[in-house]
Amino acid sequence: MPLPVHSDSVSQQGYLSNRLNSLINYRKERGLYRSRRIVASPQSTNLTVDKASLLNFCSNDYLGLANDSRVKAACKRGIDTWGVGAGASHLVCGHTSAHHELEEALADFLTRESVLLFSSGYAANVGVINGLLGEGDCVFQDRLNHASLLDGGWISRAEHHWYEHKDYSDLEEGLIRSQGNGEEKTKERIQLVVSDGVFSMDGDECDLVKIVETAKKHSASVMIDDAHGIGCVGHGGTGIIDPNKITTKDVPILVGTLGKAFGTAGAFVAGDKALIDFLVQRARNYIYSTAMPSAIAVASLKSLEIVKDESWRREKLQDNIQYFHQCLSQLDGLKDNSSIIFPALITASKTAIQPIILGCAERASRLSQKLESNGILVSAIRPPTVPPQTSRLRITLNTMHSFQDIDRLFDILSENLS
Ligand SMILES: *Cc1c(COP(=O)(O)O)cnc(C)c1O
Repeated sequence: MPLPVHSDSVSQQGYLSNRLNSLINYRKERGLYRSRRIVASPQSTNLTVDKASLLNFCSNDYLGLANDSRVKAACKRGIDTWGVGAGASHLVCGHTSAHHELEEALADFLTRESVLLFSSGYAANVGVINGLLGEGDCVFQDRLNHASLLDGGWISRAEHHWYEHKDYSDLEEGLIRSQGNGEEKTKERIQLVVSDGVFSMDGDECDLVKIVETAKKHSASVMIDDAHGIGCVGHGGTGIIDPNKITTKDVPILVGTLGKAFGTAGAFVAGDKALIDFLVQRARNYIYSTAMPSAIAVASLKSLEIVKDESWRREKLQDNIQYFHQCLSQLDGLKDNSSIIFPALITASKTAIQPIILGCAERASRLSQKLESNGILVSAIRPPTVPPQTSRLRITLNTMHSFQDIDRLFDILSENLS
């Protein structure tokens, strides 16, 4: 093929830019444009943005560990011991005893045989699903699952089934339908039911007992992504899997992240030895990606210790959630205002994630801007992150918020929600 002449490539460039600008303008006109804030301070209840101090209600640092002095000291120690970069993938020469120790500690914490670290939750979900499934297999996903779970499903080329959010009879219909498609192949193929543990944009929890029951009935396996649960909910912060109701065999694949409640970075999958061993062979983004820095593993190990030892962090978070609900129920005119939905009141989200659903994207953006001009940071979540007409403010609470902080949020909300 002849090389393109210079002027052609210039006009190609021009064409691409014009096309991109028109797509960007389309988003701007509809309140869908996304931009990044430049933060000039560490994670905390107060963030410095453009020299202003903003009260932060949008971080996933639920237990206040991202800037904890002990976690920071561990990370520095880790750098002194290991340097910065891991240098290679885990399978080449990047897997250190720091990674290994963290994997074993996490496995012990979650009473699983084995754990495998990934450099992010996104990578873990894509790696696990794409590693396990291929053509002929089937994946069943809650419609509100995290984007990384959906992407893992698409990439794997497995047959993809959606079920309506937490509608497990819809899941069952899907399982029955797919078995009809597969006929003689049913026995060999893997059927994987995948769900968020705590849904990231709504804060509600999946009904794990129902998922397990339904999956068992049709010989399907279950994978739970408990990114927002582990550390925050459950006995000792072990997440939404309640060992009194569910065994580890019922949920053979459990994913958790380190970037949220643990305040560091990276993620992991927990399961039995066969699962982890298989993923080491097959998860492409594990195999072909540089290992997380060892210092991050050292820091995460310290976080895990704190997560286990300091249950007051979870208790304080729960107190904040209760106080938030109390403020919500006192918000004037709320019940008469049918154009605002507070799922927190309806589903009583027990988690740190408390959405206020406002409908159209412009409305959510406007309220978010209004809050920001009053010194409060709450992000507006818009399509495609959430379904059309469910744009929302996503308020996240954390251990470090005081009741006064929550009062301040409600002062501004009540002035602007009519
Ligand atoms: C944040 C999140 C992820 C991604 O984790 P990262 O470590 O941030 O890549 C995966 N699943 C869910 C449900 C999440 O909320």
